Amino acid sequence: TPPVVAVVGRPNVGKSTLVNRILGRREAVVQDVPGVTRDRVSYDATWSGRDFVLVDTGGWAPDAEGMAAQIAEQAELAIATADAVVFVVDATVGTLDTDEAVVRVLRRSRKPVVLAANKVDDQRSEAEAASMWNLGLGEPHPVSALHGRGSGDLLDAILEAL
Ligand code: GDP
Ligand code: MG
Repeated sequence: TPPVVAVVGRPNVGKSTLVNRILGRREAVVQDVPGVTRDRVSYDATWSGRDFVLVDTGGWAPDAEGMAAQIAEQAELAIATADAVVFVVDATVGTLDTDEAVVRVLRRSRKPVVLAANKVDDQRSEAEAASMWNLGLGEPHPVSALHGRGSGDLLDAILEAL
Protein backbone atom coordinates (compact mmCIF):
# COMPACT_ATOMS: atom_id res chain seq x y z
CA THR A 1 0.00 0.00 0.00
CA PRO A 2 1.25 3.53 -0.77
CA PRO A 3 2.72 5.65 2.04
CA VAL A 4 0.54 8.26 3.74
CA VAL A 5 1.48 11.95 3.90
CA ALA A 6 -0.55 14.13 6.26
CA VAL A 7 -0.82 17.89 5.68
CA VAL A 8 -1.28 19.71 8.99
CA GLY A 9 -1.23 23.27 10.27
CA ARG A 10 -3.55 25.90 11.62
CA PRO A 11 -6.56 27.18 9.64
CA ASN A 12 -6.00 29.43 6.62
CA VAL A 13 -2.29 28.70 6.09
CA GLY A 14 -3.12 27.11 2.71
CA LYS A 15 -3.19 23.37 3.41
CA SER A 16 -6.05 22.63 0.99
CA THR A 17 -4.54 24.91 -1.67
CA LEU A 18 -1.29 22.98 -1.32
CA VAL A 19 -3.09 19.66 -1.57
CA ASN A 20 -4.73 20.82 -4.81
CA ARG A 21 -1.37 22.01 -6.11
CA ILE A 22 0.16 18.60 -5.44
CA LEU A 23 -2.82 16.77 -6.95
CA GLY A 24 -2.80 19.05 -9.98
CA ARG A 25 -6.56 19.44 -9.67
CA ARG A 26 -9.08 21.24 -7.50
CA GLU A 27 -10.45 18.63 -5.19
CA ALA A 28 -9.71 19.84 -1.70
CA VAL A 29 -12.05 22.65 -0.68
CA VAL A 30 -10.35 26.03 -0.41
CA GLN A 31 -12.16 28.94 1.23
CA ASP A 32 -11.34 32.36 2.52
CA VAL A 33 -13.38 31.37 5.55
CA PRO A 34 -11.02 29.19 7.57
CA GLY A 35 -11.97 25.81 8.91
CA VAL A 36 -13.97 24.65 5.94
CA THR A 37 -12.31 21.26 5.55
CA ARG A 38 -14.80 19.16 7.48
CA ASP A 39 -12.60 16.24 8.34
CA ARG A 40 -9.51 14.39 7.28
CA VAL A 41 -9.84 13.74 3.56
CA SER A 42 -7.54 11.39 1.64
CA TYR A 43 -6.47 11.73 -1.98
CA ASP A 44 -4.32 9.54 -4.24
CA ALA A 45 -1.29 11.47 -5.44
CA THR A 46 1.73 10.80 -7.65
CA TRP A 47 5.07 12.58 -7.99
CA SER A 48 8.16 11.44 -9.87
CA GLY A 49 6.47 8.12 -10.52
CA ARG A 50 5.80 7.44 -6.85
CA ASP A 51 2.31 6.97 -5.49
CA PHE A 52 1.31 8.21 -2.06
CA VAL A 53 -1.85 9.11 -0.17
CA LEU A 54 -2.25 12.76 0.74
CA VAL A 55 -4.40 13.60 3.78
CA ASP A 56 -5.85 17.12 4.08
CA THR A 57 -6.88 18.12 7.59
CA GLY A 58 -9.06 20.79 9.14
CA GLY A 59 -12.57 20.95 10.48
CA TRP A 60 -12.38 23.22 13.48
CA ALA A 61 -14.04 26.56 14.03
CA PRO A 62 -11.33 29.25 14.03
CA ASP A 63 -12.76 31.20 16.93
CA ALA A 64 -13.87 28.20 18.94
CA GLU A 65 -12.86 27.93 22.53
CA GLY A 66 -9.75 25.83 22.88
CA MET A 67 -8.91 26.09 19.19
CA ALA A 68 -5.22 25.39 19.72
CA ALA A 69 -6.12 22.17 21.52
CA GLN A 70 -8.54 21.15 18.76
CA ILE A 71 -5.96 21.76 16.07
CA ALA A 72 -3.37 19.80 17.99
CA GLU A 73 -5.85 16.97 18.46
CA GLN A 74 -6.76 16.89 14.75
CA ALA A 75 -3.08 16.97 13.84
CA GLU A 76 -2.35 14.19 16.31
CA LEU A 77 -4.94 11.90 14.68
CA ALA A 78 -3.60 12.59 11.19
CA ILE A 79 0.02 12.27 12.26
CA ALA A 80 -0.58 8.95 14.01
CA THR A 81 -1.71 7.33 10.77
CA ALA A 82 0.89 9.04 8.54
CA ASP A 83 4.32 7.93 7.36
CA ALA A 84 5.43 11.55 6.94
CA VAL A 85 3.95 14.94 7.75
CA VAL A 86 3.91 18.22 5.87
CA PHE A 87 3.64 20.99 8.42
CA VAL A 88 2.34 24.13 6.73
CA VAL A 89 2.96 27.60 8.15
CA ASP A 90 2.05 30.99 6.67
CA ALA A 91 5.34 32.79 6.08
CA THR A 92 3.55 36.12 5.68
CA VAL A 93 2.04 35.91 9.17
CA GLY A 94 4.78 34.10 11.07
CA THR A 95 4.14 31.55 13.76
CA LEU A 96 1.35 31.75 16.32
CA ASP A 97 0.51 29.86 19.50
CA THR A 98 -1.62 27.47 17.47
CA ASP A 99 1.44 26.57 15.37
CA GLU A 100 3.40 25.86 18.53
CA ALA A 101 0.72 23.44 19.70
CA VAL A 102 1.12 21.41 16.52
CA VAL A 103 4.92 21.57 16.78
CA ARG A 104 4.75 19.87 20.17
CA VAL A 105 2.63 17.07 18.70
CA LEU A 106 5.06 16.71 15.79
CA ARG A 107 8.07 16.44 18.10
CA ARG A 108 6.40 13.74 20.18
CA SER A 109 5.40 11.72 17.11
CA ARG A 110 8.99 11.27 15.85
CA LYS A 111 7.58 11.09 12.33
CA PRO A 112 9.58 12.72 9.53
CA VAL A 113 8.41 16.31 9.09
CA VAL A 114 8.69 18.49 6.01
CA LEU A 115 8.24 22.16 6.87
CA ALA A 116 6.39 24.13 4.19
CA ALA A 117 6.61 27.93 4.51
CA ASN A 118 3.61 28.85 2.38
CA LYS A 119 2.46 32.07 0.70
CA VAL A 120 5.97 32.87 -0.47
CA ASP A 121 4.56 34.25 -3.71
CA ASP A 122 7.69 36.15 -4.65
CA GLN A 123 11.37 36.62 -3.84
CA ARG A 124 10.61 39.28 -1.21
CA SER A 125 9.03 36.75 1.13
CA GLU A 126 12.02 34.38 1.10
CA ALA A 127 13.48 36.00 4.23
CA GLU A 128 10.23 35.41 6.13
CA ALA A 129 10.37 31.76 5.12
CA ALA A 130 13.95 31.51 6.42
CA SER A 131 12.80 32.80 9.83
CA MET A 132 10.85 29.53 10.18
CA TRP A 133 14.12 27.79 11.06
CA ASN A 134 13.27 28.92 14.60
CA LEU A 135 10.56 26.25 14.81
CA GLY A 136 13.33 23.68 15.20
CA LEU A 137 11.84 21.43 12.52
CA GLY A 138 14.71 21.74 10.09
CA GLU A 139 14.84 23.50 6.76
CA PRO A 140 11.78 25.56 5.82
CA HIS A 141 10.77 24.96 2.20
CA PRO A 142 9.42 28.19 0.72
CA VAL A 143 6.37 27.55 -1.45
CA SER A 144 3.45 29.35 -3.01
CA ALA A 145 0.63 26.84 -3.08
CA LEU A 146 -1.43 29.41 -4.96
CA HIS A 147 1.02 30.03 -7.80
CA GLY A 148 3.13 26.88 -7.68
CA ARG A 149 6.41 28.55 -6.82
CA GLY A 150 8.72 26.04 -5.08
CA SER A 151 6.19 23.20 -5.18
CA GLY A 152 8.51 20.86 -7.12
CA ASP A 153 11.27 21.24 -4.54
CA LEU A 154 8.77 20.69 -1.74
CA LEU A 155 7.51 17.50 -3.37
CA ASP A 156 11.07 16.24 -3.77
CA ALA A 157 11.58 16.85 -0.04
CA ILE A 158 8.36 14.99 0.78
CA LEU A 159 9.46 11.92 -1.21
CA GLU A 160 12.88 12.05 0.46
CA ALA A 161 11.16 11.96 3.85
CA LEU A 162 9.24 8.80 2.99
P1 GDP B 1 -6.43 25.89 4.90
O1 GDP B 1 -7.46 26.37 5.87
O2 GDP B 1 -5.10 25.75 5.58
O3 GDP B 1 -6.81 24.66 4.16
O4 GDP B 1 -6.22 27.07 3.83
P2 GDP B 1 -6.86 27.21 2.35
O5 GDP B 1 -6.13 26.33 1.40
O6 GDP B 1 -8.33 27.07 2.42
O7 GDP B 1 -6.42 28.71 2.00
C1 GDP B 1 -6.81 29.80 2.81
C2 GDP B 1 -6.62 31.09 2.04
O8 GDP B 1 -5.22 31.31 1.76
C3 GDP B 1 -7.32 31.11 0.68
O9 GDP B 1 -7.83 32.39 0.46
C4 GDP B 1 -6.19 30.79 -0.29
O10 GDP B 1 -6.41 31.29 -1.59
C5 GDP B 1 -5.02 31.50 0.37
N1 GDP B 1 -3.71 30.92 -0.02
C6 GDP B 1 -3.35 29.62 0.01
N2 GDP B 1 -2.09 29.45 -0.44
C7 GDP B 1 -1.63 30.68 -0.78
C8 GDP B 1 -0.39 31.16 -1.32
O11 GDP B 1 0.56 30.44 -1.62
N3 GDP B 1 -0.29 32.51 -1.50
C9 GDP B 1 -1.31 33.36 -1.22
N4 GDP B 1 -1.10 34.65 -1.43
N5 GDP B 1 -2.49 32.95 -0.71
C10 GDP B 1 -2.66 31.62 -0.50
MG1 MG C 1 -8.48 23.39 4.32
